[in-house]
Order: sequence, then structure tokens, then C-alpha cells
Amino acid sequence: MNKNRRRVYEGKAKILYEGPEPGTLVQHFKDDATAFNKQKHQIIEGKGVINNRISEFVFNRLNEIGVPTHFIRRLNMREQLIREVEIIPLEVVVRNVAAGSLSKRLGLEEGAALPRSIIEFYYKSDELQDPLVSEEHITAFGWATPQELDDIMALALRVNDFLSGLFLGIGIRLVDFKMEFGRLYEGEMVRVVVADEISPDSCRLWDVQTNEKLDKDRFRRDLGGLVEAYQEVARRLGILTEQDQRERKRPVLVKTDR
Ligand code: UDP
Repeated sequence: MNKNRRRVYEGKAKILYEGPEPGTLVQHFKDDATAFNKQKHQIIEGKGVINNRISEFVFNRLNEIGVPTHFIRRLNMREQLIREVEIIPLEVVVRNVAAGSLSKRLGLEEGAALPRSIIEFYYKSDELQDPLVSEEHITAFGWATPQELDDIMALALRVNDFLSGLFLGIGIRLVDFKMEFGRLYEGEMVRVVVADEISPDSCRLWDVQTNEKLDKDRFRRDLGGLVEAYQEVARRLGILTEQDQRERKRPVLVKTDR
């Protein structure tokens, strides 16, 4: 791996490096966990490796059903090759069940079913702590055009329907999740694609039977067992970590009668 490659951007949980070809980047998953606008910070060993695998899995499935994304392929334990996009400065949250900031803001009990899936937009700004904004703000300030916003909402609902079914099939309720979108420039063309990551860091995932939290709320709420919870999500998705695969390839002692 080229250690002298240029770092394009460093965020809370990921680093972006320049990629091997123009128009590509390498997305590196760190073990850092942060919450409450970085007031809470911890290194959780192994988190980055699992998120790289889970996000790879989700983005591959999205690419397969024709949802455009920035994802090209996973490179190694912590890194994936992605297309360079211009990030639209919005965190797009889709909610199916009341939880987190929605429960607080509107006084809804966590776990209450919502009348329908709800899309929210937050303006990406650390200084302002990602304020909730409306479509009016987004188009008036030019963060996205009305056409882009239409595309974002259609894609967000499609991803929500697909992922809700995918997770329900493995006994997990997709309570809510956050997505980011980017502009992909292809010659004269520009289109909106799903970017960033989709992992237990950016989703609320509850076990259908027990309501056990299998997501970053384990860190936010000091519940412990974060890596084990993320591993459980990976296991149910049928993802084996490279270590598991190595262990499986070990010779197995076969007992005989003699
Ligand atoms: N989320 C995220 N990054 C953020 C804020 C929220 O990935 O900076 C995700 C979060 O994991 C949850 C959903 O977006 O799945 C909704 O989060 P909420 O608005 O309830 O905020 P929180 O309770 O996390 O402050």
C-alpha cells in the first residue's frame, strides 16, 4: 500500500485518499467512534474493519438493483475504492420508527411506529451541529437544486424499502438511517449518487424479537458490546471477516476408527 499517497479529507470515522486513477478515491475506515458533535470519542478496535465489510455488502446490493452509488470495490480490510463525487452538504435521514432526535423533538415514545416513512434533511456543518433544515432552505441557499432534491428523495425511499426488506429477512428492524449523496460528473453529464457509508454507525438496527440495539446507540448510550453487535449484523448478512475465513481454511482434524 502506498503510504505517501495524498490525504484528500479526514473525517470523524473515515479518511479519503487520492485513488489510483483520476476520478477515484480510497475510503479508509478508522476505529474512531464519536458522538454528540465529537464531545464523546473512543477508539473501538475492529469497528472500521466490520463497517468496511457491511458497507461494501450494502453498496454492492444497491449497485445490483440499479441504485447509483460511488462504490467500486473493496480493496482490503479497511479500504474501498470509490468514485470521486462532489458531496451535497446534507445528511438525509429516513425514519420508519420513532427514535433518537425525532423522539426528543416531538415527544414520541422510542419504538412508536410512524404513520409512514419520513425523510429529514440536516445541513452538514460541524460549527452549527448539523441543524435540521427544510426543502425551502436547501433550494433557497442552493445546497441542491429542486431536481437534485427530487432525485435524492426518490433514491432515499428506494434504498429504505430495499434495506428494510433486506434487514427484516435477517430478523432486524431498520428503525432509521442516514445517507449522503454526491454529484458524479461524467463528461457533460452530472448525476446524483449514493455516497459515504451505510453501516451500523449510520443506521438504527433493532433485533425484531428482543429489540436489542445492534448499532451505534450502544456507544452513544454506553451499553457496551458494540463490536459484538456489529459482528452479529455482519454474521446475519452472511459476511465472513477475513479472520473467520482464515480460521475456516485451517486443516481440520478428522477422527477415524483406527
Ligand atoms: N446519524 C448519523 N450521523 C449523524 C446523525 C445521525 O449517521 O451525524 C444517523 C443515526 O445513526 C440514526 C439516524 O441518523 O440512525 C437518525 O439520527 P437522529 O437524528 O435520531 O440523531 P441522534 O439521536 O443520533 O442524535
